[in-house]
Amino acid sequence: MSIAENLKKIEQEIPNNVKIIAVSKTHPKEMIQEVYDFGHRVFGENKTQEMTEKHEALPKDIEWHMIGHLQTNKVKYIAPFVSMIHSVDSLKLLKEIDKEAIKNNRVIDYLLQIDIANEDTKFGMLEKEAIELLSSEDFAQLKNIRTCGVMGIGSITVDINKTRQEFKNLKVTFLTLKEKFFKNEDYFTEISMGMSSDYDIAIDEGSTIVRIGSLIFGQRDYFKVV
Ligand SMILES: *Cc1c(COP(=O)(O)O)cnc(C)c1O
Repeated sequence: MSIAENLKKIEQEIPNNVKIIAVSKTHPKEMIQEVYDFGHRVFGENKTQEMTEKHEALPKDIEWHMIGHLQTNKVKYIAPFVSMIHSVDSLKLLKEIDKEAIKNNRVIDYLLQIDIANEDTKFGMLEKEAIELLSSEDFAQLKNIRTCGVMGIGSITVDINKTRQEFKNLKVTFLTLKEKFFKNEDYFTEISMGMSSDYDIAIDEGSTIVRIGSLIFGQRDYFKVV
């Protein structure tokens, strides 16, 4: 099957209201263009340099989603065009995003990355850390960022029940934060969870955005220079 056919198959399987991010990291621009020509406009990358290069080379109506860990000093490269940042895991990073958003005279949408896998994962906040962030006076000062929801990455496991429980927990965190901080806001709506191996479970558990790479583009070759 072609890349576009892979995507079409997934689109047919999942509800219309779930957004598909085609995760194109490590894949060349030609492959993205192929999916674009098929009509898809939403792509995900995990490195700022790669995203910036692809943004420059490809059609400007592509929505670029940053899904990888983001260093503070790299925010400036993507701030002019990024559509949503899924991986906000500290106040420091959020302040930098706000600062760069102001420079670019725009508001940047983002998600709070929550650590849902009880492994030694390096990234993401605990629910209580997210609550602390959102309660802080510093946060209240930020005007050029918009909190659109939460993001989580399930454990790498064959245990479906573990994955399902992690996604259930993320939904609970979403509802908790919504109730506490965004009850009357119409923009806090997104739960970004589910990848190639677990998107069906994620959708069962209330995902609104799935991030799918290998199932669309095939296996990634990390040794290839893009
Ligand atoms: C690479 C990546 C994906 C896509 O992974 P696949 O297993 O190829 O679907 C999704 N989310 C994040 C955060 C990623 O880094």
